[in-house]
Amino acid sequence: MTTPPAVTGSALAPNYHPLPVTLATGEGSWVTDTAGRRYLDLLAGYSALNFGHRHPALVAAAQAQLDRLTLTSRAFDHELLEPFAQALVGLVGPLLTGTSHLVLPMNTGAEAVETALKAARKWGYEVRGVPADRATVVVAEGNFHGRTTTIVSFSSDPDARRGFGPFTPGFVTVPYGDARRLAAAVDETTVAVLLEPVQGEQGVVVPPLDYLAAARRVCDDAGVLLVADEIQSGLGRSGATLASERFDVRPDVVTLGKALGGGILPVSAVVGRADVLEVLTAGTHGSTFGGNPLACAVGLAVIDLLTPGTLQARARALGERVGDRLDVLVDDGLLTDVRTIGLWAGVDIAPSSPGGPASGRELCERLLRRGVLAKDTHGGTNRLAPPLTIDPADLDTGLDRLADALTGP
Ligand SMILES: *Cc1c(COP(=O)(O)O)cnc(C)c1O
Repeated sequence: MTTPPAVTGSALAPNYHPLPVTLATGEGSWVTDTAGRRYLDLLAGYSALNFGHRHPALVAAAQAQLDRLTLTSRAFDHELLEPFAQALVGLVGPLLTGTSHLVLPMNTGAEAVETALKAARKWGYEVRGVPADRATVVVAEGNFHGRTTTIVSFSSDPDARRGFGPFTPGFVTVPYGDARRLAAAVDETTVAVLLEPVQGEQGVVVPPLDYLAAARRVCDDAGVLLVADEIQSGLGRSGATLASERFDVRPDVVTLGKALGGGILPVSAVVGRADVLEVLTAGTHGSTFGGNPLACAVGLAVIDLLTPGTLQARARALGERVGDRLDVLVDDGLLTDVRTIGLWAGVDIAPSSPGGPASGRELCERLLRRGVLAKDTHGGTNRLAPPLTIDPADLDTGLDRLADALTGP
């Protein structure tokens, strides 16, 4: 017996509950809906739009490449593949351990994480000498690394897991931010510790300042890999090229995605020590679209935008302004907690504040009515992640509207 689908009038599977707005155009930090209303975008595609909508340099790079070559598959080389890899090693390699680095291009973030896990396992067997099929990876509670069956196997979010088993074994979960528990979880089967330097989806949870450095020491002592998932925290968001830099830590392997595609197309990559990524020899891993010419053209333009370091500095400076203003909202009792790093903030609403929103969702609905786009993460927590290119006056407008939305419908 099959159950007929519920009649909703939509042909879309109901795996999202979007805010009631239908967008038509975008430019910089602003988008316009089909009725012509303008909204300030304080979500920025979960940081895939770090450079705003349709950044002229990124659109120009994409358009030029559309007129040349868009897809080859990796069966053949193309003229931008090696330059893209070299440029990414140039930007990120100095922030990693080791002296020689490689890039493995993929498309989505989840694919980059899967790639890093496969590389870590194979490295564990071939280099670290872990007995066959016994490799474990230590992960943190509250993580978000994507939506594949293996990745949800080590999620601690019941909604992400329920109904999707059986799960992939080989993961050990420890509380985020607790270096002692992390150290205790590492044993002779461990191949890697996989961490977000800041947990974005969890609500911009910034760990204790010495946590990542402690994780680095644990990995060094045990001879295992520190893999940093910088898909959301990386490429400028935290006020540095990698959030790991903000904690003075060099990972062995890093996953990048989201902003690497400039808000134009999915582009992800694993960048890591050559002796680790070298284990993925011909035929052992791949992707039809990974490293395609269009992706490399946009990725190269993204790297160009980040190379001078000015956007990272801008994120730090604007982030301080955001932090100061959000602290006032905490003092006023409108928020219970604020966490910021770079131009990235997690805010918890005060459930009992008079006239305040009852949930993160309600706050987003109120902001929508005020011409601001934002997205709740969990319960009463909202994330603010404007484009790094946002005009300071627009940022102030957004924060004014946030303060207003916290006090009335
Ligand atoms: C978004 C995200 C992913 C998954 O990226 P997709 O492109 O949605 O597959 C993985 N890790 C982190 C930290 C993310 O924020």
